[in-house]
Amino acid sequence: MMQGLMMDRPLLISSLLEHAESTHPTSEIVSRRCEGDIHRYQMRDAARRSRQVANLLASLGIEQGDRIATLAWNGYRHFELYFGVSGYGAVLHTINPRLFAEQLVYIINHAEDRYIFVDLTFVPLLEAIQDQISGVEGIIVLCDAGHMPETKLSKVHCYEALLAQQSEQFDWPEFDERSAASMCYTSGTTGNPKGVLYSHRSTVIHAMGSIGEEALGLASTSCFLPVVPMFHVNAWGTPYSAAITGAKQVFPGPGMDGASLWELIDAEQPDLLLGVPTVWLMLLNHMDAIGKKLESVQNVVVGGAAAPYSMIKAFQEKHDAFLIHAWGMTEMSPIGTVNSHNAHMESLPLEQRYQLQLKQGRPIYGVEMKIVDDNHNELPKDGKAYGRLLVRGPWIVSSYYKNDDDSSFIDGWFDTGDVATIDENNYLHIVDRSKDVIKSGGEWISSIDLENAAVGHPDLVECCVIGARHEKWDERPLLLAVRKPGSEVSADDIRDYLTDKIAKWWMPDAILFVDELPHTATGKLLKINLRQQYENYLMEGEPA
Ligand code: ADP
Repeated sequence: MMQGLMMDRPLLISSLLEHAESTHPTSEIVSRRCEGDIHRYQMRDAARRSRQVANLLASLGIEQGDRIATLAWNGYRHFELYFGVSGYGAVLHTINPRLFAEQLVYIINHAEDRYIFVDLTFVPLLEAIQDQISGVEGIIVLCDAGHMPETKLSKVHCYEALLAQQSEQFDWPEFDERSAASMCYTSGTTGNPKGVLYSHRSTVIHAMGSIGEEALGLASTSCFLPVVPMFHVNAWGTPYSAAITGAKQVFPGPGMDGASLWELIDAEQPDLLLGVPTVWLMLLNHMDAIGKKLESVQNVVVGGAAAPYSMIKAFQEKHDAFLIHAWGMTEMSPIGTVNSHNAHMESLPLEQRYQLQLKQGRPIYGVEMKIVDDNHNELPKDGKAYGRLLVRGPWIVSSYYKNDDDSSFIDGWFDTGDVATIDENNYLHIVDRSKDVIKSGGEWISSIDLENAAVGHPDLVECCVIGARHEKWDERPLLLAVRKPGSEVSADDIRDYLTDKIAKWWMPDAILFVDELPHTATGKLLKINLRQQYENYLMEGEPA
């Protein structure tokens, strides 16, 4: 083949920061801090301090490829570490603080983290496990000297004190763009978490692919609030894509509840919010309670779990905000598909548009996807056939870190573990996680669709549907629901409500009310425990 004659400049994370500093020096970065106040500075300050982070790593004897962990909320110091650590050539390991203690121990040791940068909030987490992570050489607390906590941690340092000693000059090294830049472990609902190791190249291409209108729409004029955490799936890559466009970033820190989010939205007027459905349920409830409208917000990107119909409608009709449904996973950096605005969507009557918005959208450029049956034969893209969803692309995992299990990798494709349909226009609809789908008499029932139909009931806060063993049908759906405080809504009321919303044979065999539902580290329903608890309910118990 004849070769092209273009330069081969490496796609490095430091190049994103250099671009941001020279092109968007005054872009604002606003953060709610663990210390309780609001901090603001500009992109050029972030760039300067990222260089100090790099000098700090050098002074600590960190080598390229070494793992440096963070245990932190969304905030400016975390942002500096994203660029300082990866730019230096070390690997940023973002740790999810919601993992169980044993999982934290496992991933810190598995990644062989040399240092951990930790927010004040999470110091007790490390105190509890410090005896089991002896390979860690030091803990650096993300605060100034005046806020250093009394702590049982040994080998502990103050971030601001260390940073102040560092030069603001640093020449970012150039190296192979395929070098590891950062890593994130899956939440491991079964077995140990698995490490996903992102490269500079994958991160930069993902950032370039995710900024446009057909993706997250992070224009230079936008101001966005990523509630999706920087400690898991890189806040959907937004720190990197913001560096490209210079959008204003508003970091919520530890304030993820409805009231704290509203306070920040009211003060900073973001037009774009990003996060998982549970967060938006809290915000929408809060807005209902105070009777206010999210005036500045134009778009809300919702992913990580399926956005319910009632949420799409509430954002549109109460707040004039468009819900952009998206799908992805840790293994995909994470963005796979986005259900963005387009002319066809705008032309639809509202009800039909909501139905389309329920789908998880179309792949952004770079992601290929197909559905297959159990023998790996490809199924038609007709919106009806459902099968295992396989994906491939330059920002999709090719194997797990130090893990021989290759069962998810099939002929160059990654098996997502999701069951989905894809329609003629390449819109993806996630039917379920393959382990959650309910197999009733040879037919499949989507636990997600059932949950989302039920949660539309005004008296319910949250719903979870699991497959319970059944003598005749193998499995039948069982609905666990959390009522709003003071509500006395009955199982029969819920059945009536569902009658015209689902197929008759989807009607749950039992509807039980519980005080709360368990969640995974990423805020999703922890169905594995519920399945264990209720799997025999329909065999032994009395239907509610
Ligand atoms: P975990 O660490 O919990 O595996 P991920 O954040 O990687 O976390 O989760 C990815 C999974 O979340 C997907 O495979 C899919 O099952 C689910 N998911 C993500 N977005 C959506 C969505 N919009 N609708 C339905 N499910 C989703």
